Amino acid sequence: MRIANVAGRATLLDADGGGLDVEKASGGRFPSDPQALFESWDALRDWAAGAGGGDFAVDESQLRAPTPLPRQVFAIGLNYAEHAAEAQLERPESPPVFTKFPTSVTGPRSPVVLPSGNVDWEVELVVAIGRTAVGVAESAAWGHVAGLMVGQDLSERVVQLSGPAPQFSLGKSFPGFAPLGPALVTPDEVADPDDLELGCAVDGEVLQHGRTRDMIFGVAELVARLSAVCPLLPGDIIFTGTPSGVGMARDPQRYLRPGTTLVSHIAGIGELRNDLVDGPGARAGG
Ligand code: ZN
Repeated sequence: MRIANVAGRATLLDADGGGLDVEKASGGRFPSDPQALFESWDALRDWAAGAGGGDFAVDESQLRAPTPLPRQVFAIGLNYAEHAAEAQLERPESPPVFTKFPTSVTGPRSPVVLPSGNVDWEVELVVAIGRTAVGVAESAAWGHVAGLMVGQDLSERVVQLSGPAPQFSLGKSFPGFAPLGPALVTPDEVADPDDLELGCAVDGEVLQHGRTRDMIFGVAELVARLSAVCPLLPGDIIFTGTPSGVGMARDPQRYLRPGTTLVSHIAGIGELRNDLVDGPGARAGG
């Protein structure tokens, strides 16, 4: 099952990209609000299996984030060994966790305003929770996952790294710093949800390329470890970490520029396409 947010309405996608409005097609059984849909995820899956094909062509420019306002956003740092190495940090013994505040969420085709400073790219697999998870075992963890998305953990490195202790959550939470989508894809739609090819490029130049099988802590272990502390609620999301190739680790360092387009993909899930634009008065010299 693939569920998209089309202009604010939950929409079931068929194999040809056609859309079926969930609220209308279900006669009001399910809400139009994509974020509210997670409260009845199991019932939605049962209904969708017999719902039939789409009845309108989805306009890509109308796509919004499949999880527009999650109650909790978890993000994992240093979850690929090569990325930990390029950051000149030790391979972690437990996953470093921070948040991206929910106001940073944006859509898969939305432009992103670059604030002043050094804005970096981090393509990531993002997991959405479909069933409340409290202290779940790793073996049961995938059963609490609603689906998968492509995400970008955009990061402004000056705010992130200034001060007496790093400000990961703040530096990664400017408006638009969490593009998500293009749709929420259930794990059964991909051959192996623990081994997905992912990457990102700017104006066609590949910046990152990896596979999720190289994560130090896989999806199931992350769900288990996070749910041992925080109840994971329907519609919550987890950014699972980025592979190597970020701009901060390059020599010379390199950051996103206005007037370019960042394309982020995961094979079998889809791609984000975000134009990067200058903020008013920001980035003297571009
Ligand atoms: Zn990240």
